[in-house]
Amino acid sequence: MPTTRFAPSPTGLLHLGHAHSALFAFQQAKGGRFLLRIEDIDHTRCRPEFDAAALEDLHWLGLRWDPPVRRQSNHLDSYTIALQQLEADGLLYPCFCTRRDIEAEIARAGSAPQGPDGPVYPGVCRALDATTRAVWRQEGRPHAWRLAMDRAVARATQAAGPLRFYERSRGWVLAEPAVFGDVVLARKDIRTSYHLAVTLDDALQGVEVVTRGEDLLPATHIHRLLQALLKLPVPEWHHHGLIRDQTGRRLAKRDGARALADLRAQGLTAPEVRALAGFGEIDLNHSPSPSGAAQQPGDDSGGDR
Ligand code: GLU
Repeated sequence: MPTTRFAPSPTGLLHLGHAHSALFAFQQAKGGRFLLRIEDIDHTRCRPEFDAAALEDLHWLGLRWDPPVRRQSNHLDSYTIALQQLEADGLLYPCFCTRRDIEAEIARAGSAPQGPDGPVYPGVCRALDATTRAVWRQEGRPHAWRLAMDRAVARATQAAGPLRFYERSRGWVLAEPAVFGDVVLARKDIRTSYHLAVTLDDALQGVEVVTRGEDLLPATHIHRLLQALLKLPVPEWHHHGLIRDQTGRRLAKRDGARALADLRAQGLTAPEVRALAGFGEIDLNHSPSPSGAAQQPGDDSGGDR
């Protein structure tokens, strides 16, 4: 009876793809703990009204979760502590580059290796001399923190060899984070990143099976590395296929995929929407664990907001 979670970002209304992901996570908990986490570190894109709407939609869909809801924006300090640990271990460097600096450097070099998220960072600030770095930091120039990938992989594998992770529909997978290059672990504007926050939270919340769409499978390679560096417990993963529209494109908020709230307003019932999301037969009985009262939706009154 594992602990699973559904972790939406409140950057828009939930659509059928989210319903599929949430129901999938719930089903994988199989009577264990099912957690809800709101991934709202990006204050430039997340909005409280989408947070509230997500809870309402999930509740309407028939889902019940184990309180409290965790909101990442309440836990920025824990991400900072982990970042400081990685910095103290000599695995990070500050990156002062703007997007334009990076594009200019790639154009100058003529090419850059492609990683899963686009061109790999060309390493400009990695090569910065210590004095310039110190002066720029003293001046308060905005900077991100990047993981020095070569060093990080060397550190993580020196004792026990190559890292692997267990993916429930793929079996054992060799972790190959190096193809991402020096990833950003703390953005200039938000002091953390998706990779760092999600890895820490899954560990802090005792998540045993990380379920999410297969579009995030590449990110798992980075998360496995971070777990090794931060000495965190290693869960299993289960990446599900994505729901697509009639043209075969995956549903996305930005393309105006039909929101659950719209389907509801059109008169569809929750069982009908669950069936559209691929879970017509799911058993939604769930007794939240006794650690918190079941005050849904919109709970989080256990001091976690
Ligand atoms: N917050 C992410 C999203 O909405 C999902 C993160 C995860 O499940 O690891 O795409």
